[in-house]
Amino acid sequence: MRCSVVAVGTELLLGQIVDTNSSWIGEQLAANGIDSLLQVKVGDNHQRIVDVVRSALVEADAVIMCGGLGPTHDDLTREAIAEVMGVDLVMHDDIAQVIRNIFESRGRRMADNNLQQAMVPVGATVIHQTRGTAPGLLCPVGDKVIYAVPGVPHEMQDMMERAILPDLRTRSGDTSVIASRVIRTWGESESGLNERLNPIIAQLEEIGNPTLAFLASGWEGIKVRLTAKGADSQQAHAVLDDWQAKVLEIVGDVVFGFDADNMETVVLNLLRQQGLTLGLAESVTGGLVSGRLTSIPGASDVLRGSVVSYSSEVKFDLLGVPRGPVVSEAAAIAMAEGARRVLGAEVALSLTGVAGPAEQDGQPVGTLCIAVAINGRSTVSTTLRMPGQRDQMRQMSVISSLDFLRRQILIPSKTN
Ligand code: ATP
Ligand code: MG
Repeated sequence: MRCSVVAVGTELLLGQIVDTNSSWIGEQLAANGIDSLLQVKVGDNHQRIVDVVRSALVEADAVIMCGGLGPTHDDLTREAIAEVMGVDLVMHDDIAQVIRNIFESRGRRMADNNLQQAMVPVGATVIHQTRGTAPGLLCPVGDKVIYAVPGVPHEMQDMMERAILPDLRTRSGDTSVIASRVIRTWGESESGLNERLNPIIAQLEEIGNPTLAFLASGWEGIKVRLTAKGADSQQAHAVLDDWQAKVLEIVGDVVFGFDADNMETVVLNLLRQQGLTLGLAESVTGGLVSGRLTSIPGASDVLRGSVVSYSSEVKFDLLGVPRGPVVSEAAAIAMAEGARRVLGAEVALSLTGVAGPAEQDGQPVGTLCIAVAINGRSTVSTTLRMPGQRDQMRQMSVISSLDFLRRQILIPSKTN
């Protein structure tokens, strides 16, 4: 099965956006055992799109087009496919109704051009939209196929995973199942993880199943992804379980979660399981930690609240921090204990530091002092050096402090 990708959009040619869709699709094709033949970018011009798709179809068994499915005049993918197929576009009433409903449920007036998205080449199958308004298309051309997906990355990825990759694998006669597992880490660099996992990587290079990849995601940490193939889902998952255990044996100390977990959900779940409530005292992050935690549905049964004690006076007057330097572990400890008291929580996390531009209390930019106060235990604190400019420093502080909190909650409480 040989597949080519055509990314549509003048903005791609002008360098206004980077074609990350094609690289993502290329990676998925490889993981699914489908050969990638060619990847091209073409502007929003009807004839050039038609020419590119026609010539791609000469050698490839399948062509995936991404972008240009929207409602505006420069969205030409549908018309181009109809011309390549040599058929007309017809209005698909079900899709038209879905599009009308989307606008209605948002209480917005629908511009008529939105119904363009309900036009489907005769003979094509629709890939229903779950996230946006533009449906995808599966268009047979003789014994070959053209797929069309929206340009918006998460819509494209959803349709690829749900419909296109399974269809390509069926066409290639492959009945095996592919499953993957993401192992979330925090506190180790990509090269550090790579070095520690080298023995496993070497073994996997030999046996080829599962495969292991590192995905750096900035201040979300490094993800280690295992992808396994099996005769069925159970077999693929058994392979994943097996190798996940081997990965954890080596780097388990920096693993905080799996798959859809993130640091916020992990911390909230741990607190919830132990029946503990959380209070926050934020200085340097100005509420970012509580913002991240409250973005998780159900946070309210754990999070009592946050004191954004940005000015020193608030630290002194509201939280009872002794007058003196406010970027210090002593101040962080007093903030955490004050937050526990003021917010009536069993656990409190505090953050104070220097985001810049200038140093403060003799501490350089990037200094982060954090403390965790847990009912019945002595308060613990630490000082970390965060990299980067103001924004990065503050975002790194959020996840670093939540990881510190997570580690403290995991320490079993002493039985008296
Ligand atoms: P829409 O319904 O949103 O108009 P569409 O299918 O018409 O979807 P485009 O208009 O081509 O898609 O692109 C929409 C957005 O998706 C772009 O502004 C860009 O942010 C993103 N996008 C498009 N193509 C790519 C690509 N190849 N790689 C990464 N992002 C892309
Ligand atoms: Mg568009």
